[in-house]
Amino acid sequence: MTTATPAHRAHMLKSHVYAGFEPGPRVIILGAVHGNEICGTLAIERLMAELDAGELTILRGRLTLIPVTNPLAHAKVQRNGDRNLNRNLAPTNIPQDFEDHIANVLCPILADQDVLLDLHSTTNPPGQPFIMLGPQNNTGELLPFARAAEEEALALRLGPTRIVEGWLDTYAEGVKYRLAHASASLRAQMLSTDPSYGVGTTEYTRKHGGYALTLECGQHNDPEAPEVAYRAIRNTLAHLGLIDAPAPTVQAEFELLKLSQVIDRMDEGDRFVREWASFDHFKAGDVIGHRANGTALTAPSDGYIVFPSPIAVPGNEWFYFAQASERLVDGRAARIMG
Ligand SMILES: [Zn+2]
Repeated sequence: MTTATPAHRAHMLKSHVYAGFEPGPRVIILGAVHGNEICGTLAIERLMAELDAGELTILRGRLTLIPVTNPLAHAKVQRNGDRNLNRNLAPTNIPQDFEDHIANVLCPILADQDVLLDLHSTTNPPGQPFIMLGPQNNTGELLPFARAAEEEALALRLGPTRIVEGWLDTYAEGVKYRLAHASASLRAQMLSTDPSYGVGTTEYTRKHGGYALTLECGQHNDPEAPEVAYRAIRNTLAHLGLIDAPAPTVQAEFELLKLSQVIDRMDEGDRFVREWASFDHFKAGDVIGHRANGTALTAPSDGYIVFPSPIAVPGNEWFYFAQASERLVDGRAARIMG
């Protein structure tokens, strides 16, 4: 058996469109934006089988399904093809790498949507699914937004009950810090010093008039993850009226964390004091890790660690701090995380 992938698979983007006869929202579901995160791919394929068999009908609006959004990364069974498709996402006149080519065909599709649901899975434990929520309504420069109420309403109806917010502004602050503090040699290794580098599928969709959620469905190989993804798709279609189905349950008991700071790994010698998992809790002053020169990195306040990456390339994100957020979501207050 050959492991080679047919060349054509890595040179085009395949999407499927189901249009209802009645008016309604334009909804897109993405799988495998990161190639080794296949829960969304499996869930989309399951949904397509039902649509194609006539067991389910899109009655209103338009549903676009992209089971494999990064076909090169998917063929390689890894996160990225040439680079991370979910950063610095924008069309470009002179494509340099595979993801630039995908961006040129994907971005116009995203710009033509009301709603995006982007399905991912995580490397790190724990496997509990969580939702990445966008900003509150604002007229700022980084990401002006006016559809927070609709986005929040969908977030509480996907199924999972843990929500994380504050991605893009924390990322932009991290870029500023990086620019101010990095040595020249480290700068060369940095992914980017452009604040818009934090723009992925959801940010791009919001920039172009839609609203969007990323759902982390669990760990990559968790057999539950495709089920979480599938339920989220069905709940989205029911909530937005594309299919006739009972209104999904509102998750009134939810946890909400706000990312507050990103800490870069600066040196191969930077080490965590233990193996951290996302959402591990710590108290102000707890030692998280040590810099190569022995300096202790301590928690600035009570909070949680998110996306720890023990082997991050120096100059790139090592981990994020997060705190409980008091933001109301769909008019409801979160409960404090245990
Ligand atoms: Zn991902």
